[in-house]
Amino acid sequence: MLSTSVTGRATAPDLAGRRALVTGGASGIGRACARRLADAGARVVIVDVHDEAARAVADEIGGVAVAADLSDMAVVDGLDCDVDIVVNNAGFQHVAPLGDFPPETFAKIMRVMVEAPFRLVRRAMPGMSERGWGRVVNVSSVHGLRASPYKAAYVTAKHALEGLSKVIALEGAASGITSNCVNPAYVRTPLVEDQIAHQAAAHDLPPEEVVGQVMLARAAIKQLIEPEDVAEMVAYLCTPQAAMITGASFTIDGGWTAY
Ligand code: NAD
Repeated sequence: MLSTSVTGRATAPDLAGRRALVTGGASGIGRACARRLADAGARVVIVDVHDEAARAVADEIGGVAVAADLSDMAVVDGLDCDVDIVVNNAGFQHVAPLGDFPPETFAKIMRVMVEAPFRLVRRAMPGMSERGWGRVVNVSSVHGLRASPYKAAYVTAKHALEGLSKVIALEGAASGITSNCVNPAYVRTPLVEDQIAHQAAAHDLPPEEVVGQVMLARAAIKQLIEPEDVAEMVAYLCTPQAAMITGASFTIDGGWTAY
């Protein structure tokens, strides 16, 4: 499994023989993670509510697609969790002031982005422990570390995921299981493209100005992040050299949180 050069430095993660489950792998960051982990040799299971898109990615990378709505806990508990790597990535956004925020949407975001990761990992951990190796990577967000107005559920869910990730790290430590968060700011994906359209209408601005003036206002580097950049960090966390990295959170935010 180890992939090291003669000097002992990391080359690329060698995940041959490993099984990875990537939630939300049909699109955006999850798709980039699925591709990257498959490139590294892992057999990737993509779990996504979008059946057709999930199958297209699975076909491309020689993986498996499982159509599942992660807001339904009976469905979540029926998923095969006998995997070595779990990437908790599925998620969605809803933007509204607190008073208008639909409680049922708040609850759904918590189910998909907090409860499903908890239920998947608690069932994956016994197998990982038996094999003495496991990697849990939680796709959190800069909103796991900072708040923004009008994103009550998303910010709450991502902060909760940060806590869950640290508990997994502590409980998994003795069994070779690490758990970490990656924390991107705005990444060029459909989730963000939807927000650009929404904000353009709300602020009466052209879309390119929304990106510059609204979304990247707090970033030092005024650029959207690419999904592949996030996937690279996820893959790094699966290398042997990352065995001591656990309970941590890694910003990929163009300097947003440096302020
Ligand atoms: P995306 O919309 O491109 O992909 C999200 C995927 O999750 C989709 O394939 C969707 O079908 C799936 N999904 C949503 N609800 C689901 C459900 N109930 N059951 C199963 N699958 C479901 O979005 P993305 O930007 O790639 O987001 C992926 C993750 O990255 C999310 O957790 C998001 O919060 C996080 N993130 C995104 C950004 C960003 O700027 N795009 C920044 C930070 C963190």
